[in-house]
Amino acid sequence: MTHLAEGHIVLMDGAMGTELDRRDVPMHGKAWSAAAMTTHPDAVRGVHADYIGGGARMHIVNSFALARHVLEPAGFGDDVASFNAKSVALCREALEVQDAQDPQWIVGSLSTFAAQSDRSRLPDPVALEENYREQAHILADAGVDLFTLEMLCDFELTQAALNATLHFDKPVIVGFTTKWAGDGATVMTRADEMGLDPVAFDDVLADLVPALPTDKPMIMSIMHSDLDVTDAALDVLRRHWSGPLAIYPNSGRFEYPHWQFDSVCPPEEFVSAAQGWIKRGVGIIGGCCGIGPDHISALASQQATAS
Ligand SMILES: [Zn+2]
Repeated sequence: MTHLAEGHIVLMDGAMGTELDRRDVPMHGKAWSAAAMTTHPDAVRGVHADYIGGGARMHIVNSFALARHVLEPAGFGDDVASFNAKSVALCREALEVQDAQDPQWIVGSLSTFAAQSDRSRLPDPVALEENYREQAHILADAGVDLFTLEMLCDFELTQAALNATLHFDKPVIVGFTTKWAGDGATVMTRADEMGLDPVAFDDVLADLVPALPTDKPMIMSIMHSDLDVTDAALDVLRRHWSGPLAIYPNSGRFEYPHWQFDSVCPPEEFVSAAQGWIKRGVGIIGGCCGIGPDHISALASQQATAS
C-alpha cells in the first residue's frame, strides 16, 4: 500500500457484527452476523454508510462468518457464493451512495469463527484451507482490495488462512486476537478460548514471522483485543516485525451471540489510545467489536484537526 509508505494514516471502520447487534438485527445462533445477509442487507449497507460518513476509508465487508464451515451447519450451505459476493456489493453500494472520496479500500474478512462460536466445529486444517480458498476466490472476484485474517491465535490456523490468500497479490492483514495471561504480565493469544493449548503471542510470532514470504505486501495486526492489552501486544509485535501495522481493538465483552455494550469505552478514550499507536508508527487504525461509528468519527475529527 503506497498510501502507507507515504506516511499517511489510514482510518479503518469499526465493528460490523456487533454494530448490527446493537441495531437490533437478530444474530443467528450458529452463523452470527451471516444471517443478516439475507434478512437485513439494508442494515449492513447502513452500517457501512455510517462509517463512510464518519470518515473511514478502509471498510471490512460482512464476510467474517461466511466460510462454508459456518454457513453449512446454519442451513446456508447453498449461499456461500451469493452471501460473500453480496458482502462486497453492499459495501460498494454504500460507497457509491455516499459519493465517498478516493482513496477507499474494501477489505474481505476471513476468520477463525466457527459455527455457534464453538471452535471444536472447525474442520481439519486441509478442509479449513479449502474453505478459506473458496471464500477468498469469491471475495477476490467480487473486487476486494485487501484481505484481513481475523481472530488468529496459532501457527496452524494462520498458515491455512495465509495459504488461501497470499497468491492473489493483494495486501493481507494478519490479525491476532490477544489478552493478558492470568499473571497479568504475559500477552497471550486467545487460543485457549478456542479449545487449543494456551499460546504466548511472542511464541506464535517467533514461529510465524520468519516463515512469512518477503515478496508479498503484508500488514501485521492486533485486532479484537482489549485496549489495556493492545499496547503490550504492540511491544511484542514490534520485537518481531518492522513492517506495516494495523490495530483495531474491541471494547466491551461477549455473551455469545450478543455483545455487551455496558463497559464500552467512550470515544475520547479510544481516540486517546489511537493517538498513542499513531505516534508509535501504526498506519491503519479502526475498531472491532463494540467500537462503533461514534468512535470512528471522533478519531476522524481528531485526525483532521491534527493534520
Ligand atoms: Zn471483534
